[in-house]
Amino acid sequence: MTAPRRVIASAVDRLGRAFTIDDLVAEVRALAPSVGIATVYRAVAAMEAAHAVERVGTRDESALYVRCTADGHHHHLVCTGCGLVAHATCPLDDVPPLHGTEGFVVTAHELTLYGLCAGCATEVSPASELPRS
Ligand SMILES: [Zn+2]
Ligand SMILES: [Zn+2]
Ligand SMILES: [Zn+2]
Repeated sequence: MTAPRRVIASAVDRLGRAFTIDDLVAEVRALAPSVGIATVYRAVAAMEAAHAVERVGTRDESALYVRCTADGHHHHLVCTGCGLVAHATCPLDDVPPLHGTEGFVVTAHELTLYGLCAGCATEVSPASELPRS
């Protein structure tokens, strides 16, 4: 692993929560101001290929990633308040037949749930419960 890759990996660890490339670049720059954005993109792509990070959806139309060390097929719940990520077992082991899919064999699926973690749910007043856009 090259030095920038090590810095980027430790920035992912420090973030600890769901992050966009912008979040990660800011964290990396705090550690090593000289690391370029293209290097961060390449490092995230490599970590994704190695299953060290997983893409869990989008935030503000940017890809949202999370450090994921859990084995096997599972899903993520992402807090829209603080970015906390919880891992959940798959609720779809037995996918019931879906309308309009006759003859279609389902071989894979993706599912990310968004909401507020217990901490954020108690902090946020009902008027501001919508995810930031
Ligand atoms: Zn995971
Ligand atoms: Zn939260
Ligand atoms: Zn599943």
